[in-house]
Amino acid sequence: MPQQLVTDLGLDLRLASRSVASYTPWIRDGRAGGLLVERPERGETGDSFRALTGGDEEYDAWQRFYADVAGLAEVVAPTLLDPLPTERTLRDAVDPQVWRDLVTRPIGETIEERFSDDTVRGVVATDALIGTFASLRDPSLVQNRCFLYHLIGNGTGEWRVPVGGMGAVTDALARAAVSAGAEIVTGAGVSGIRASDDGAEVNWHDGGQDHVVTARHVLSNVAPWVLRILLGETEEPDSKPQGSQLKINLLLDRLPRLKSGVEPELAFAGTLHLAEDYSQLEAAYADAAAGRVPSVMPGEIYCHTLTDHSILGEAPPDMHTLTYFGVHTPAALFERDPEGAKQLAVERALAALDEHLVDPIASCLATDAAGRPCLEAKIPQDIERDLAMPGGHIFHGDLEWPWAPNRARLDTPAQQWGVQTDVASVLVCGSGARRGGAVSGLGGHNAAQAVLASR
Ligand SMILES: Cc1cc2nc3c(=O)[nH]c(=O)nc-3n(C[C@H](O)[C@H](O)[C@H](O)COP(=O)(O)OP(=O)(O)OC[C@H]3O[C@@H](n4cnc5c(N)ncnc54)[C@H](O)[C@@H]3O)c2cc1C
Repeated sequence: MPQQLVTDLGLDLRLASRSVASYTPWIRDGRAGGLLVERPERGETGDSFRALTGGDEEYDAWQRFYADVAGLAEVVAPTLLDPLPTERTLRDAVDPQVWRDLVTRPIGETIEERFSDDTVRGVVATDALIGTFASLRDPSLVQNRCFLYHLIGNGTGEWRVPVGGMGAVTDALARAAVSAGAEIVTGAGVSGIRASDDGAEVNWHDGGQDHVVTARHVLSNVAPWVLRILLGETEEPDSKPQGSQLKINLLLDRLPRLKSGVEPELAFAGTLHLAEDYSQLEAAYADAAAGRVPSVMPGEIYCHTLTDHSILGEAPPDMHTLTYFGVHTPAALFERDPEGAKQLAVERALAALDEHLVDPIASCLATDAAGRPCLEAKIPQDIERDLAMPGGHIFHGDLEWPWAPNRARLDTPAQQWGVQTDVASVLVCGSGARRGGAVSGLGGHNAAQAVLASR
């Protein structure tokens, strides 16, 4: 979320930095170690690259690569709260080799060319796969778009943790909206929108009663696939987004110790990569594309309580949350036998973690009042059921480049801001906007600007 947006809205919100970017435990020739990337990088990062790769070449390549990424981010990030630039304008402002390596050829080719260590390659590659089901060499380049979005936020790509949890973000936004005169209605379902270019009629119900509201503009943050249905189009199963992640939330009495001997408070402070070597990512993709739950499950873990313990209230300081995000588990894998396939995926995900632990994760789990272990798992179908994200796709559909194609029509304010639908009165203001796809506020900001520009 751009700082400018937080400031403009006067959001009472603190986004805390993590002291570690990532830790990747590894076992080679019976030796356990870990690749630590500090934030900001200090001496230990280089040391841990040397311990893994035996020299300085891979860390030099890493520093060159992320300097290139930063160069692209510095050009793209300042445009996100402006009307869309064209691809040509941005391309002309970026080193041609950087543009080629990150934008026009599959990111996998670039990673393979610029890095040689399988683990290092994998750490770089994961940003291309969070929420995106693709091979790193996919010609569609959807993985490159995913990579870019994970690295451009505020020009640095830093992942931050909202103090107080995600609810603190929505609460801050709600307070800003109400103080500006908005009325917020929750528990309301929209059943249809009748729209013309001049205005729209929205039918909604509050669980008991049907209501109709008319408006000059409708700004919608449901997924574009859902919005088309609300606008009266027939449901198209073929174009329905398909999520691909396995989410596991755990509550622990204590953090587990690692075989590498690193302090758990350090290993879990950033992103902990598991079975995410480059070759493992590609093998898991091949498994899943062939309809099998990956035999080795790649995924990563975040421990938000190490950055902000307040989300656990009065809980003892040793107690922590872990949240696992597994990649390459598309919804299709769970269609025939949802519970069986989910159990298998969870077992394999936890096995990938246990491989690096002295204390098996099960021995660290807290239990609830009924004595059950505090672990919940969500496959894409669960995300769809719980959150109404179609197909359980965390971005509401594949991500688009944050610029306009050179030949795009940019006649109306909505087109200029990347928030248009086929009807002038209805705009996209959420994840499905051209520059949506995260808790960034960009979709809402840009839809609002399009409305202001069209008055
Ligand atoms: C497991 C997971 C992990 C994620 N991790 C991150 C992360 O680390 N960082 C990040 O930036 N993003 C992350 N995301 C993505 C992020 O959550 C989304 O990009 C964001 O929630 C999109 O916000 P939105 O307002 O556009 O849509 P949503 O949050 O999907 O909100 C749409 C709302 O519309 C409601 N709705 C749907 N249909 C109707 C209807 N007919 N009538 C009325 N209401 C309706 C839904 O119930 C929902 O409340 C993650 C998502 C998931 C699922």
